[in-house]
Amino acid sequence: MAPSATPLWEAPTVQVPISNKDRTFPVRRVYCVGRNYVAHIREMKEGNERDAPFFFQKPTDAVVASGTAIPFPQHTQDFQYEGELVVAIGRGGINIPSEKVGEHIFGYAAGLDMTRRDRQKEALNAGRPWEAGKSFDHSAPCGPITAIEECPAIGEGTLCLSVNGQQRQKSDLDLMIWDVAEIIEKLSRQYRLEGGDLIYTGTPAGVGAVRPGDVIRLEITGLKELEVSVT
Ligand code: MN
Repeated sequence: MAPSATPLWEAPTVQVPISNKDRTFPVRRVYCVGRNYVAHIREMKEGNERDAPFFFQKPTDAVVASGTAIPFPQHTQDFQYEGELVVAIGRGGINIPSEKVGEHIFGYAAGLDMTRRDRQKEALNAGRPWEAGKSFDHSAPCGPITAIEECPAIGEGTLCLSVNGQQRQKSDLDLMIWDVAEIIEKLSRQYRLEGGDLIYTGTPAGVGAVRPGDVIRLEITGLKELEVSVT
């Protein structure tokens, strides 16, 4: 059958603003790293601190911009924030060696890996996939992307998350178990990375629940802040 000239509907491309540029970053895929800070592994009482990093994905259209009002999701009583450094890939590749990752990174952003923690724990306990806990609408807020040239020392910065002005997470980024270069090296052994991929690099300790009316603000040294509200 010949392809129809007119699609049934438009499939929108998700775009993230780029700091100081009159361009946007079209998102292709969203990858997340599980368990990348020792203190968070300990607070969750799960896993081995020496395990290799593992990855999961969120749907691309879960990405929402700073300033978004996020509806409290269905199917949970325990909606939690996880503040994370996000790596934005600009050039694709497979089996990227850690010393070459700089050629593939477009920039960085502050991001939230929003989690239905009750559903995630159920999945963990039952040995099932994490989708119900991790992959749902509005679950991947992402702040404006800062080009790598403008934040060359990103790994030396600090991540700081507050809810309604009260600090909940604070960590130096150099406390990551697997740094950005190691994450890209390992992820690119499993998937071909392409321009437009976002990688959420894991959360430090201090995760917690939010309710309607709460405002979550994430600041990472050298990057634009990310702020979302829950409605
Ligand atoms: Mn996370």
